[in-house]
Amino acid sequence: MPEKGEKKKLSFNDFKLSKSILDGIESMGYTEPTPIQEQGIPIIMQNKDLIGCAQTGTGKTAAFLLPLLQHIIEDKEKNAGINTLIIVPTRELAIQIDQHLQGFSYFTGVSSVAVYGGTDGVIWDQQKNALNMGADIVIATPGRLIAHLQMGYMALQNLKHLVLDEADRMLDMGFYGDIIQIVQNLPEKRQTLMFSATMPPEIRKLASKLLNNPEEIKLALAKPAEGVLQAIYKIDDTRKLSLLKELLVNKELARVLLFTSTKNDAKNLARTLKSIGLSVEAIHSDLEQKEREKVLLNFKSARIHILVATDIVSRGIDIDNIDLVINYHVPQDAEDYVHRVGRTARAKATGVALTFVNRRETQQLTNIEKLIGYKIFEIHPPGNLR
Ligand code: AMP
Repeated sequence: MPEKGEKKKLSFNDFKLSKSILDGIESMGYTEPTPIQEQGIPIIMQNKDLIGCAQTGTGKTAAFLLPLLQHIIEDKEKNAGINTLIIVPTRELAIQIDQHLQGFSYFTGVSSVAVYGGTDGVIWDQQKNALNMGADIVIATPGRLIAHLQMGYMALQNLKHLVLDEADRMLDMGFYGDIIQIVQNLPEKRQTLMFSATMPPEIRKLASKLLNNPEEIKLALAKPAEGVLQAIYKIDDTRKLSLLKELLVNKELARVLLFTSTKNDAKNLARTLKSIGLSVEAIHSDLEQKEREKVLLNFKSARIHILVATDIVSRGIDIDNIDLVINYHVPQDAEDYVHRVGRTARAKATGVALTFVNRRETQQLTNIEKLIGYKIFEIHPPGNLR
């Protein structure tokens, strides 16, 4: 029984979702909805437009996928072309959303395809065939989607729902024009959902252009999940590597995510750690799509234990059970800190995030502390490194 004055917790059964979807949710191991799911699912079920201010790690993917699946199951024109288009900034996010979708839709018969660039001709043909046959849900990055659109075989005339995920990220990456071009190919009468971790004026502008009288939900400003134990070390650049070795060598850590500012730092650090016998690989934008996927898979399956990354994996990438996040460099952008640290302690688990701060990075640390609203606990480096 809820305490007096406490709101009753909703369960997934309260959303009027079909049995086939509830079975999918159960198979994914979700037992109760997260706050954004509690707030977002009823709005989307009512076919309203929605702006969701929420970062990854909040459960926003299921918040939009579940009610959209319900709409598709109820759609009488099912199979008449593409029903739902989800536009995302990166291929990693497209693949991840498609994986979630396959879990939720397993018992429903709803079909989906992820469409993204950086792949070979075989994959292009697979994407083309899937689009030709009319998958119910298409999850796509903007550039590749436009390439397919221009070939003229995408049946979008019956499209009912459009989702823009990580909209702020897409604008940062320069996709504004592409998004507008894509939307010009869609029916005007549709449901549009937009998710963004931040709400700068450009996002408001895009929303007023594309959404119709939207409801808005805002989850409390970006803050690392409560389960993350955060700490900083104040340490010179010349000693960062020694501290890192102290933390990693002879430790039983299954998954450590290590962030650097640049891809060269990521490559060099991975090389150095490998040379002292640690199980490590680097992921960054110089890698081909196939190589990135392989590295991520190796890390997910704990074949390698340390992943050195630039910010390409800090947003959106779904790797559970990360024991430790280390920011070898303080991120330039305070929000990137929240995204990086959000890689640990996803949906209720616990984790540790350590940040190495040199003198020049003090201002960035101050910005982070301002954003999250508290000071991060300081640990003193071991005596030999002070
Ligand atoms: P997202 O913010 O959508 O990227 O989700 C973050 C992580 O939380 C993913 O690993 C999801 O599988 C997980 N997740 C989302 N919703 C729930 C839920 N209701 N119960 C348990 N895990 C969830």
